[in-house]
Amino acid sequence: MERGKYFLTNHRARIYLDVIASISSPLGFEKVLQHAGLHAWLEGLPPYDEACEVDFADLSALNVMVSEVYGPRAGQAMAQRAGRALFTALTPHFSQALDIHTAPFKAQPPVQRVKAVLEVLAHDNPGGDMHGTLQVAGEQFIYIVNPCPFCWGQLRMPEAICGGMVGFLQQAVEWVGAGDHYHVEEAACAAAKEHHDASCVFVFLKAD
Ligand SMILES: [Zn+2]
Repeated sequence: MERGKYFLTNHRARIYLDVIASISSPLGFEKVLQHAGLHAWLEGLPPYDEACEVDFADLSALNVMVSEVYGPRAGQAMAQRAGRALFTALTPHFSQALDIHTAPFKAQPPVQRVKAVLEVLAHDNPGGDMHGTLQVAGEQFIYIVNPCPFCWGQLRMPEAICGGMVGFLQQAVEWVGAGDHYHVEEAACAAAKEHHDASCVFVFLKAD
């Protein structure tokens, strides 16, 4: 697995890890870290600072192990919760670009509000080396992530493991008040492929 290439800020990774830790049993979280080979995090989790030091490979190793220890369904649900918390922590950042509480913003249809938050996300790619591209076709959105911090370096996984990104994007949709209109799913995961350099693809399924 390729290490030392892409990094996430300590603070962002820590928010994610705190949620996983808080919904695991203490022994369960320790087991995840041990089995994932994340011995440094057994000593102490990353600090709440803006240094860009958390290797994508470590975060993805954690995600694989969470799914292995708790089962794919529960593991991905945990990852989704952590991803939601991550977006929520970033809302001050998104609020600078989008005045979601103003009447003109609220007056826009859901499709425009979702497009607006995704454009900010794709433009800023906040929090480190994650890179996302937005594709828009009418009222359909696809968000393509490469490199993806949630599964970087993993190959031939039986299922998608980027629940963290699904939760992050779903929370973004709900933040702009479009949770009844769009449901996020991971359509393709780089970790389920045979070769590196694949992208993770997230689709926004329209509910009406
Ligand atoms: Zn991914």
